[in-house]
Amino acid sequence: MTSSAWKTGQRGQGCGACACEFVPGASVVSALFEPAPAESNEPEFDDAPPFTRTDFCGDCFDGDADTGAPFSWWRFVVPAPEEKKATFDLGVAREFLQRLLGQDDPERASLRYLLTLLLMRKRVVKVTEQFSDERGDVMSIRFPPADTLHEVVCCELGEDETESLREQLGELFDLG
Ligand SMILES: [Zn+2]
Repeated sequence: MTSSAWKTGQRGQGCGACACEFVPGASVVSALFEPAPAESNEPEFDDAPPFTRTDFCGDCFDGDADTGAPFSWWRFVVPAPEEKKATFDLGVAREFLQRLLGQDDPERASLRYLLTLLLMRKRVVKVTEQFSDERGDVMSIRFPPADTLHEVVCCELGEDETESLREQLGELFDLG
């Protein structure tokens, strides 16, 4: 039953293009894809389709294989089985949050805020300042060791929304 192939969460199916297994030491790219634009005009946030994640081997991602146009992606080397896997997902999550912050889509304000909170707990994000302005409560954050500051507006999250966002993020990253 045990395989030396790298597995996390519901993923671990190997390369999304050539289906090769990810063995320790292999170069892998984790790519996050934006949901396809909704056909109807439904603003209901809870029903927004989640981002999806596909992992590719380095050869496929760098080569001619059809790997689509990811929203964000992160390259890493597959760890030996005894090493902590969660650490590696933090890199994917960090890239994703930086991309979300750069895009500043108002519909993703809750997602940005919740992911910021989760990554603060993992020390991937540091709050340097908190203040209030016309947007409400704002956190000024950075991603150590980088000094670049990003602003995240704090949201009031309902229980249902928090739950659904946590689920989405849980499917993308093992944030425990
Ligand atoms: Zn491949």
